[in-house]
Amino acid sequence: MIGIWILGDQLSPDHPALSALEQQLGAGQARRQCRILLLESSSVLAARRYHRQKLVLVWSAMRHFSEELRQAGWRVDHLETDRFSEGLAGWISHHGLTELQVMEPAERPFRRAIERLTLPIPLQWHPSNAFLWSREDFAAWAQPYKQLRMELFYREGRRRYGVLMEGDTPLGGQWNYDQDNRKAPPKGLAGPQPQWFEPDGITEAVIAKVDQLAAGLEAAGEAGLPGSSQPFGWAVTRQQALAVLEHFIATRLDGFGPYQDAMVTGQPTLWHALLSPYLNLGLLGPLEVIRRLEEAGLERGTPLASLEGVIRQILGWREYTHGLYWWFGEEYPARNHFGAARPLPAWLEQLGGSEMACVDTVLGELKATGYAHHIQRLMVLANYGLIAGLDPQALTAWFHRMFIDGYDWVMQTNVLGMGLFADGGLLASKPYAASGNYINRMGTYCKGCRYNPKQRSGETACPFNALYWDFLARHSDGLRRNPRMALVMKQLEKIPAEELAAIRATATAHMG
Ligand SMILES: Cc1cc2nc3c(=O)[nH]c(=O)nc-3n(C[C@H](O)[C@H](O)[C@H](O)COP(=O)(O)OP(=O)(O)OC[C@H]3O[C@@H](n4cnc5c(N)ncnc54)[C@H](O)[C@@H]3O)c2cc1C
Ligand code: SF4
Repeated sequence: MIGIWILGDQLSPDHPALSALEQQLGAGQARRQCRILLLESSSVLAARRYHRQKLVLVWSAMRHFSEELRQAGWRVDHLETDRFSEGLAGWISHHGLTELQVMEPAERPFRRAIERLTLPIPLQWHPSNAFLWSREDFAAWAQPYKQLRMELFYREGRRRYGVLMEGDTPLGGQWNYDQDNRKAPPKGLAGPQPQWFEPDGITEAVIAKVDQLAAGLEAAGEAGLPGSSQPFGWAVTRQQALAVLEHFIATRLDGFGPYQDAMVTGQPTLWHALLSPYLNLGLLGPLEVIRRLEEAGLERGTPLASLEGVIRQILGWREYTHGLYWWFGEEYPARNHFGAARPLPAWLEQLGGSEMACVDTVLGELKATGYAHHIQRLMVLANYGLIAGLDPQALTAWFHRMFIDGYDWVMQTNVLGMGLFADGGLLASKPYAASGNYINRMGTYCKGCRYNPKQRSGETACPFNALYWDFLARHSDGLRRNPRMALVMKQLEKIPAEELAAIRATATAHMG
């Protein structure tokens, strides 16, 4: 009897171990000759106190997936356990299994943890179907380059999968329409409402379990679980995830591009797709989403800047950051280019209380749903971490715990690389550091803030301003060597010494 262990982020209808077995033995025989295991282990909380919404999403989606497999005739054991290794060992011996099959985990630490297990039976790996590019194909693409760039990788992906192509040329004659996007929000900008779902009985049971776990931790005098568990509206089945995709196409695809970088108070989602939780869990496959977006967009006459824009995120950025995660190797997560070491402020753990309107708004939204959109993550949260010199490993771990779609493969390159430049420029050509001026231009938060976005020093100066110039001054020797920083470094030089001293004193006072 073969055992197939399906991990919590491998909830794919085309799971390669099941497909291979069906192909080999036929549908009926495959179902008779294997048992499937899903392990819901609370041991994950020992290493990381995850946001409650994330725990509910993953465990509820796993329970629904188990049910769907059972209805399709598979023999499924969905076990709640305190430790993965014990749950797995007990299951193998109880059913007298002769071989274990697992799909390659997307995350290196989990792969290593499985490798370390002493299993009584042979283990067979199946290649992952969570990404289009295998690690080997990505390595073959990356090998010849001295400096990797997403744009070149993305173009290769467009050619390789024939997406938005006319023969050998990109549809519309251009690869990238980004310059048509990135508009500042006009007054009163409001996006369409996203699709949410009422929790069913399974989800309600998981919410109760998560709240109980949190209460148990608190009662034992330990840190509880961050975030609110309710209201919970994420999709927990493939059918619901497909409905989210269709709802995105019907309401937000056409408008995806222009306000991609906008940040508006009371508008946490704008035209963003809200697809990452489902892509990262395996409920949706990347190619099916890309093909459906292309087909629907062309049919609807979606502006190319919007259609190309969203496809670039999935075919470009998602594949690229995953490919780089494996390409950069095991040492990457420990990088700390700027030697940043400040501990995380308490308001990050509390998800509020910084007194900065931009930060508190984003944290409030994060607390409610586990979600913030890309620019909120990059230009508010990570930007603060970068210019304030917060410990990059601690901040990466924080993102991993707090975000509904956070996994190690996506954390390292996005937070450590793109957000914090802790890799010294392996991913981004310059640090994404910005002052309050950027947040004021691209968002509406400053209007309700106790700080002044135009002021650089003094008690009411925007902390992003003071920290930004302090960051540039702190690292001026290294940053001067980066040609893409030349302009801002010139601006830094023009600040009179006395004023720079006042700005830096404001930054120091802010950090306490
Ligand atoms: C500091 C920081 C932290 C991030 N943390 C995560 C995370 O925990 N999980 C995660 O999936 N993404 C993360 N991202 C990437 C990106 O911000 C999210 O994928 C996106 O905001 C998810 O929301 P959405 O589905 O509405 O995306 P949209 O903006 O609508 O984009 C559509 C899809 O493109 C993909 N995508 C876009 N950009 C990226 C990217 N840079 N890397 C990977 N995929 C991308 C996602 O699958 C997303 O669903 C992070 C980015 C930064 C800068
Ligand atoms: S003034 Fe500064 S701290 Fe306040 S919302 Fe604007 S950017 Fe954020």
